Amino acid sequence: MTRHHNFCAGPAALPAPVLERARDEMLDYQGRGLSVMEMSHRSPEFTAIAEGAEATLRSLLNVPDNYRVLFLQGGASTQFAMLPYNLLGNGGTPNYLYTGIWGKKAITEAKHLGGAHIAASSEANGLTAVPRPSDIVLSSDAAYLHYTDNETIGGLAFDYIPECGAPLCCDMSSSILSAPLDISRFGVIYAGAQKNIGPAGLTLVIVHEDLLDRAHPDAPTMFNYRVMAEHGSMYNTPPTYAWYLAGLVFEWLRDDIGGLDAMNAINERKAAKLYGAIDASDFYSNPIEPINRSRMNVPFVLADESLNDLFLKESEAVGLLNLKGHRSVGGMRASLYNAVPEASVDALVSFMQDFEQRRG
Ligand code: PMP
Repeated sequence: MTRHHNFCAGPAALPAPVLERARDEMLDYQGRGLSVMEMSHRSPEFTAIAEGAEATLRSLLNVPDNYRVLFLQGGASTQFAMLPYNLLGNGGTPNYLYTGIWGKKAITEAKHLGGAHIAASSEANGLTAVPRPSDIVLSSDAAYLHYTDNETIGGLAFDYIPECGAPLCCDMSSSILSAPLDISRFGVIYAGAQKNIGPAGLTLVIVHEDLLDRAHPDAPTMFNYRVMAEHGSMYNTPPTYAWYLAGLVFEWLRDDIGGLDAMNAINERKAAKLYGAIDASDFYSNPIEPINRSRMNVPFVLADESLNDLFLKESEAVGLLNLKGHRSVGGMRASLYNAVPEASVDALVSFMQDFEQRRG
């Protein structure tokens, strides 16, 4: 069996020890004679899995007691709509920072419910740097401020947590668990699972209890954070297997990696290696302001774009998978999520250097 180097932006690489454990527990989960996929979500076995996953996540991120952790479905894209449905019940204007394609989609959903104020934007710099704190101007009736911590397509990441008088809401789909985080700064954090959490099909929401009473009266039941919180994320059948795998990923982070400080140091090294190789060459380039370069998603272009197809073909042939940039921007993108080993980055860097030597 060969596992290739997987740089996919999502669904992304999962830690090999997690997949091995899932394999071992697949047919007969801990002597129960059935798989996790075949259990009732209300069974004591699954309740223990669900509660265990939440407890491990809470300890990894130091989630304060006055926050609820929800394990939902619908992806981060559903959160784009669910957030305004839950926070606009008392009126006010939703405020957004615009730094890329995902943020724009979030803004579009808020506009469906009446409108949105753009409190700052990266449009003027071509989405190559995030707004500075002094650029952020909220509307006087701000119901919340939303931003995208890491724009997965552009490879643009915030280097700070915005300060504001309104609840701070963040799409952390492609950066959660890559480093320690001060949850207490936020009103709502959400993330699709398929990058740093687990397989696609699960969406994590961490919400401050004080925000559970602001839902829009027309919010569908399945869109209501309070309903989901009161039912332990089991108002309906949750994505049980994805939840179980997320729990295994959280345990891997705690036990194999040693927690988020250790993960942060590894991620720092991986990104430094790849950006270092890009910056050392005239053959490759990345347009992002260095302070805002994403450690999770590294887009780069070749000086000679006519070599793109050859680069992708040759890289794939040596087991470097999914380096093609997002269809909306082209070029290349290497996603270096938690489960991408440092050895994969080393392999990518040496391929890039070799390719440049042969074709540059
Ligand atoms: N936000 C960000 C930052 C993302 O990277 C993505 C997916 N790539 C989404 C939202 C959409 O997530 P989903 O596919 O889970 O709806």
